[in-house]
Amino acid sequence: MFDITLGLVGVGKIVRDQHLPAIAETPGCRLRATADPHASLAEVPAYADMAAMLDAHPEIEAVAICTPTDLRHAQARLALSRGKHVLLEKPPGATLSEVEDLIGVANQQGVTLFAAWHSRFAPGVAEARQWLAERRIERVEIVWKEDVRVWHPGQAWIWQPGGMGVFDPGINALSIATEILPQPFFLRRARLLVPSNCQTPIAAELSFSDPEGATIGAEFDFRQSGPPTWDIHVDTDAGSLSLTQGGCRLSIAGQRVREEAEREYVGLYARFAELIASGRREVDVAPLRHVADAFMYGQRDAGEAFFE
Ligand code: NAP
Repeated sequence: MFDITLGLVGVGKIVRDQHLPAIAETPGCRLRATADPHASLAEVPAYADMAAMLDAHPEIEAVAICTPTDLRHAQARLALSRGKHVLLEKPPGATLSEVEDLIGVANQQGVTLFAAWHSRFAPGVAEARQWLAERRIERVEIVWKEDVRVWHPGQAWIWQPGGMGVFDPGINALSIATEILPQPFFLRRARLLVPSNCQTPIAAELSFSDPEGATIGAEFDFRQSGPPTWDIHVDTDAGSLSLTQGGCRLSIAGQRVREEAEREYVGLYARFAELIASGRREVDVAPLRHVADAFMYGQRDAGEAFFE
């Protein structure tokens, strides 16, 4: 059983929507304190920054870092160097170099570092991976569109360097694709649409291919109104597979084989518990590497200014 005293760093939308219910459902996980310059939770000791929280509560053994991405590295480094296990919300850093550095510090300290790709814990992902493992991939279509005003209300950081814009949700699609597709794949072309008053894209179109010649296309868009579209369709030499609703629904050859409510963060905390118990680290940078490639290799087009 998980038996751990936890501190939360950053008390924003994702903590309230997902971490708190998942922590409440994880036996043996005790939330001891939070760190956030302004926000706090009823009846949980609150500190303005992480160092103050760790000073006041040496009994904290692990922290979940849920701040905007450009703050991750300094906070995670400090927590690891003080011997704490660390769960990093996705994306695990603003740059690949930062994440490499954290892996080194976690190894040195002998503590768990977990780069948490929550979408990989969606109900249909494991079965999709298993089914695709034995097939030749011919074509993949990824459509990941949501309304930024609904999913990131008032979050100015998402439009700043490190905030990643539409890649903040798009990286979830890439975390699933890198998990379920049996071959590595490589960026061939990218077009990023950047509002004239922002530093990061509001929409992106990406084309990849794999060594066997599959074509892989992705469309990310923050301008969707109404319900989100979080779908991945795969054509193979032996039929097609669709993982839709963010991975909650799996269809194979047109037949629905799984449809479940999402409980991604319960799975995430269970994995964190397993990793801590077995003294392991899990940090897959593949999704972040694809985003870095898109920023490095993509064509940028200026779009009209975005105002929330
Ligand atoms: P958010 O609502 O902006 O929350 C971030 C919180 O961190 C805010 O309360 C912010 O306070 C606080 N913060 C800022 N500087 C801090 C510091 N130095 N120390 C401690 N706390 C600090 O953002 P979010 O949506 O929760 O996203 C956070 C992370 O979760 C992002 O990496 C995102 O990709 C990931 N995520 C988000 C979603 C989603 O649907 N929104 C889903 C999955 C994962 P101020 O507002 O006062 O600056």
